[in-house]
Parts: sequence; structure tokens; C-alpha cells
Amino acid sequence: MLQDKDRIFTNLYGLHSPDLAAAKMRGNWDGTKFLLEKGRDWIIDEMKKSGLRGRGGAGFPTGMKWSFMPKQSDGRPSYLVVNADESEPGTCKDREIMRHDPHLLIEGCLIASFAMNANAAYIYIRGEYIAERYALQRAIDEAYEARLIGQDNIHGFPFDLYLHHGAGAYICGEETALLESLEGKKGMPRLKPPFPANMGLYGCPTTVNNVESIAVAGTILRRGASWFSSIGRPNNVGTKLFCVSGHVEKPCNVEEAMGLTFRELIDTHCGGIRGGWDNLLAVIPGGSSVPCVPAHEIMDAYMDFDTLRNLKSGLGTAAVIVMDKSTDIVRAITRISYFYKHESCGQCTPCREGTGWMWRVLTRMSEGRAQKREIDMLLEVSTQIEGHTICALGDAAAWPVQGLIRHFRHEIEKRIDDYAANPHSEPAMLAAE
Ligand code: SF4
Repeated sequence: MLQDKDRIFTNLYGLHSPDLAAAKMRGNWDGTKFLLEKGRDWIIDEMKKSGLRGRGGAGFPTGMKWSFMPKQSDGRPSYLVVNADESEPGTCKDREIMRHDPHLLIEGCLIASFAMNANAAYIYIRGEYIAERYALQRAIDEAYEARLIGQDNIHGFPFDLYLHHGAGAYICGEETALLESLEGKKGMPRLKPPFPANMGLYGCPTTVNNVESIAVAGTILRRGASWFSSIGRPNNVGTKLFCVSGHVEKPCNVEEAMGLTFRELIDTHCGGIRGGWDNLLAVIPGGSSVPCVPAHEIMDAYMDFDTLRNLKSGLGTAAVIVMDKSTDIVRAITRISYFYKHESCGQCTPCREGTGWMWRVLTRMSEGRAQKREIDMLLEVSTQIEGHTICALGDAAAWPVQGLIRHFRHEIEKRIDDYAANPHSEPAMLAAE
């Protein structure tokens, strides 16, 4: 369990002011110049040693990502782009950082940009985040006014920070679609390679990082890589913001040590499962795109990247969606399927056609109007989508369906049997409404 002295986000709940004076009292901007004076290599090295893995979902080591940026410019500028799109259903952690602890993010932007020799950074914020945008812009203006950032700042590294408001498309959370959108084009993912570190924003070397990954950088460097890496479990270290929603007594956002167990997380911070632990059906542990995990597998599992991957799911954004036994799991996954169908940008055929096809089949299955052989057909089609598309939305659409079939095939079969036994009855899902 995380102790209070090890918390990075000390104003996560907005109990104190987000403004600069209060942020400085909390330790933000403390010795930032001193950190920059230690040099680029030291910062990147320290980030690598800290073991921080990207908090946006993929879990790629942040320090290593920074090291991919060119050491010497070939004439093109470098950019840092912060992904504040946060559209993954269930995820609501970055908004709290931007609302209540924005100076952690701004300081992180300066440090990360310095480490990558980027004199400008862009924060791409989700279209629906209006209040967060105002809060963050206020903090950016304060930082300019105090000459913490800007062309002639007290840190001696010319640096501009721009906040860009998206228009509310899920796909713009994909890093290359985000760059397209930032350039003023339609938010459609690019083929990779070239990767953004070679050719990103405006054709220049770019690193795209999640808000939380950047916001923790200042504290990691101040307190030392060894402090951060001493929290958590091997290869899954540090603190992490968990967003717990669904059938718990008290849904919440909380910063915790990586690798605490699901049971510890729920009992300590969420007041337990609604109706008790025996009432737990399944959990989606990392935002809607990762496969669900049934109760008996998740209860005492560690909440970290590696453990959840071994359970054929993922930590993703650590958006933990808890479902108790009142949940119609087939219908829940059907609804998620509809989301991905709706958000597909339509560039590649498996995703454009496959997401709609999966949703239509699942809709019939949730009512029992299907054949049992179609379950394997659905699984087969999902594997034809997974890994065969330009971006990861194809995978994100396929995985929840695969998780459903892996763990709840019996539920689909039962529904088909019930309907076959009484085809004129009202479908189960409609009767429940
Ligand atoms: Fe667009 Fe889907 Fe292809 Fe991604 S996988 S590029 S969202 S069609």
C-alpha cells in the first residue's frame, strides 16, 4: 500500500488550490533549474533507471522512448506532444491532474522537452474537457507570467507550451491520429513506420506521452530513480492512478502503488464490492479495450502490467470497471462493441467492416437469436481484425469480444438455448428493461 509521504499527486481531489503559489507549497517547481543543469543525459538516464512505464496504456518504458529522439538536430525542430485525449471509456485520471495539479504537468513538460531538445510542446486535450482546458490554460498563463516557461525564462531554456483543444473523437487518442488532428487535418491514424520519433508533428521528430507519464517526471527526478523504483513489484514499479468505476460501494480515483492486489484496491479505497465479494462477476481492469477477467481470477491478482497480461488482459490505463452479478455481461460487451464500431475512422477494411459485423452478431447473441456455431465464427473474425489494421483500434474492438467468449461462452450458449426453446418469448434483454 502506498504511504502518504510517497504520493506524487497531493492535490488529486482538489482540496487545495491549483494555482501556482499553492503548487509551489506542494513542492512543484522546486529546484527545476538544478535538475536541468544536470543535463539531458542525466535526465534520460534517471528516467530509465526509475523504471517508469508509460501510463497511457501500452506500458512502454518512458525513459527509453525519450532516448529515441535525435541527439543532434538535422535542422528540424523536435517536439513533445502530450496526449490528454483520455477518451478510453472508464478512464478519468488525467482530467484530475489537469484540473487540480496542472503545474506538475507543466513542469514535467519543461523537463521532458529539455531532455529531448524540444523547444516547444503541445498538449492535445480532449474536446469534452472544457473546464480542464480552462484550468490548464490558467496554469500555463501563470507559468508564463512567473517566467517559469517562455522564451526568456528563469531556467535558461527557451520553451513554449501550447494547449490544443480536440473535437471529441476517440481515435484522436491514437498518437498518429492525434498528430494529424494537431496539424489541422482529419484525425486518421498514420501507417508506421516512420515512427513519430523520426517523423512526427509537421514531419519533425516527436515524442507523444500520456499526461500522467509527464506529470510524474519532476517528482521522480527530485526524489530519485531509486525511490520510484522501490515502490511496487519488479518491472512494474512506481505509483499509479487507478480509476475505479462500476459496482463498488464508492467509485473513486486513487493513487496507489503498482502491484497492490485487486482486493486491496477495492477494500481499502472503494468500500468493497456492491453486495459483497461473492457478488462479483467480472472486471475490466484497464479501460474498455482490454478483455474482461472473471471474478475468481482477478480477486487476488496484482494490479500491474505483467500480472494482468498473464491473465490475458491488461492494465491499460488502469481504469478498473467492476461488474457484479446483476450485469448482463453479453449485453455489456455488445455495448462496448457498438462504441468501437462508432469510433472506427474507416480507413482499413477489417476495422471498418469488422467492428460493425461483430456488433450486429453480438446484438443477436445477447437476445439469443443466433446459432452456437456462430460463437466460433465470431471468435475467428475477431482474430482476423486483431493485428490486421493500421492502428490499435482494431485490437481494442477485438479483445473485449475475445474475453467474453473465453470466459462467458456458457452465458451466450444458455441464451441461445433459451431462445430456441421458446422462440416467441420476449428476448431476455428486452424483458429486463
Ligand atoms: Fe481507422 Fe480502425 Fe484502421 Fe485504426 S484500425 S486506422 S480506427 S479503420
